[in-house]
Amino acid sequence: MLLKKETMNGDKMTVTAIEDLSIKEIAEGVLLVHQDNPPAQFSCCDGLLVLPKPGRNKNTVALDVNIEPKYVAQLVSIYGPVKDYVCTHGHMDHIAHVHAWEEAGATIHAPRPEHEYLTNLNKFYRGFGFNDGVDFTVVQQFGILNGYQPCKEVTPYRPGNIFKFNNLLVGTIPLKGHSKGHVGLLLMNERVFHISCLGFDVVEKGKDGFGPWYGFRECSLKQYQKDIDFAKMIFMDRAKILTSSHSLVVEHPDDFPFTYMNKKIDQNQQKIDAALGSIRDVPGSDERKIMELLKMDILFPKQKMTGFLQELYTLWEYWMLRHHLKKE
Ligand SMILES: [Zn+2]
Repeated sequence: MLLKKETMNGDKMTVTAIEDLSIKEIAEGVLLVHQDNPPAQFSCCDGLLVLPKPGRNKNTVALDVNIEPKYVAQLVSIYGPVKDYVCTHGHMDHIAHVHAWEEAGATIHAPRPEHEYLTNLNKFYRGFGFNDGVDFTVVQQFGILNGYQPCKEVTPYRPGNIFKFNNLLVGTIPLKGHSKGHVGLLLMNERVFHISCLGFDVVEKGKDGFGPWYGFRECSLKQYQKDIDFAKMIFMDRAKILTSSHSLVVEHPDDFPFTYMNKKIDQNQQKIDAALGSIRDVPGSDERKIMELLKMDILFPKQKMTGFLQELYTLWEYWMLRHHLKKE
C-alpha cells in the first residue's frame, strides 16, 4: 500500500514510501531496498534500484532486489519500467522471487553456472550438492517455505562481466569463496560497492549476525579470506559507499565489514578447535571427528530444529566444519 511521499537526503529526490519496505537513497538516484518482514529466513535479500538519470540510464535497473512479488509490483509501478535485473548468485535468498521481475518485463541476468537455478529447482539441488546429503523433497520444502517460483528464462553472464546499461556501468566482481558464481556489484561511476552475500550481516552496530557462510562442498575458506581482502581493496580504492544483502550501509573508509568478517571466521575456528580438544580421545579420521562435532551443535542450533530444516542445517554445518578441518 502506498503511504506517503517523503523527501529524503535534503531536496535531492523524493522517495515514495511503501509499507514494509525500507528504501534509502545511498547515492544520486541509487536506492537501497530492504523488505522489513520477510516471510522466511532465506526468502529475501536487500538490493539496489538505479533510477533513470539523464546521461546515465534510460530505465530503472534492479540489482539483486529479491523481495516478495507484491512489493516488486509496487516498485515497478512507481519506478518502472525495469528492463534489466542482475542477480548476484544462485542461493535461495537471491532467487526465490526473481520471477516477479521477469513477469514485470525485466530481462534477468544471472552468473554462470548458477543461472540455471533460477529456472529449475532440481538444478539448484544438484548444482549446490544438496544431493550429497538430502533428498530432493527436502529442497522442495525449502523452496516452498521461501516462496521459490522459477523464472522462465535467464540470461547468463560470466562473473567478471561489466554491464553497460546506457551509460551506467556495473562491474561484477567474482567473490567465489561463498559460491562459484557469487559476485559483488560495483557501480563504477557512482562509487557504490554492493558486496552481496560475502558475510557482512550486521543490521545494527553491536549486534553480530552469523557472518560468512561456506556450507557447501564448493565453498572455500581459503578463497573466502582472499575475497575479503580483495573486497576491502576495491572498497578502499574505488568506492565511497558499501552495501550488502543483509546489513548496514557503510561509508568509506570504515573497514568494519572486513574486520567483522575475519573475526567471525576466526571465532568459528576457535569454537571448532575447542570442541576438537574435548573429543581428543575419539580415534579415527576427520570424517569421524566431524560426525562427533555435528552432535555438539557448534555452529547451528540443530537440536532445536526438526524435519527438513534440521537435515539442511546438518548438511551445511558438515561442510563448514570440513572446510575448517581441512583448511580448504
Ligand atoms: Zn548467498
